[in-house]
Order: sequence, then C-alpha cells, then structure tokens
Amino acid sequence: MPEDPAQRLDAEDTLARLQGAGVIDEYTRPRHGSGLPRAERLTIDVAEGPVLYGNQQGGVRVRCPNTGVPAAMALSDALTRLRAGGAGDVACPCGESHDPNELDFAPPAAVATSALVAVDVDAYLLDEPARGLLAEILGPFRLIPRRVS
Ligand SMILES: [Zn+2]
Repeated sequence: MPEDPAQRLDAEDTLARLQGAGVIDEYTRPRHGSGLPRAERLTIDVAEGPVLYGNQQGGVRVRCPNTGVPAAMALSDALTRLRAGGAGDVACPCGESHDPNELDFAPPAAVATSALVAVDVDAYLLDEPARGLLAEILGPFRLIPRRVS
C-alpha cells in the first residue's frame, strides 16, 4: 500500500499501468519474469477512509514504539478521527502522540486508504527490480503480508 495513509489509488488506472508495464496479464495475474511472485490475481483495494491492513486471521498486536504499551484502542480512536477528516495522530497511552504507521505492529500491518492486493501468492518477498517497478507505478509503498483465511 502507498506509504501515505491518505493516498487513494485509482484502481482502473493502476491496473492499466501495471498491464502497460508488462507486470500483469489481461487477467491481472503477475507475468512470469516480472519479478513478482506467482499470484492468482492482483486487485486494487480502495477503502472509504484509512483502515488497518494486516492479518485478518490471528489479528495484529499494536504497541507503542517507545514503551511497548498496548495501543490498539488509541489507534482505533485515531482512525475514527482520520475518517472524519481530522488529524490522525495516535494519542498513545505513553503520553506522546505517534504517526499511526510508526506504531509497533506484530505481525506487520499498516494504515492505508488503498492497496494493491496480491491474492493467493506463493511468496511475499519482492526483489529490488520488482520493488523499483512497483514504486514507479504506486509511488513509495509498504509491503504487508497478511493471512485472510
Ligand atoms: Zn507511545
């Protein structure tokens, strides 16, 4: 997903650019040799507002990056404010405020408004050329593996 939690990908445009760059075929499957792992398809997820992308099965632990104090409720409050158009800083129980994506997530997770989703991948690592290619199309991005079922 884009590093900027507010960045909204244009689904049609992004898929067209991925096709144009030879990354995916007409069924949105990563092409062999594109550097992307094999996947059943790629989709673009566009949410109404910032949401937490991470494990759906098993959940995600959210903690303060400085003190380790649990911060899930504070993040939830921050996302509610963000979706309402307010500031998204997390009022952490440690007394400081943090950027949502600076929190300590285990396993990794990130707050974003949209994401390029690879379905049924056989690996979740990207080599440098593949990272560069995706960065050209998406801009700065984060890679978050997640288990959905
Ligand atoms: Zn904190």
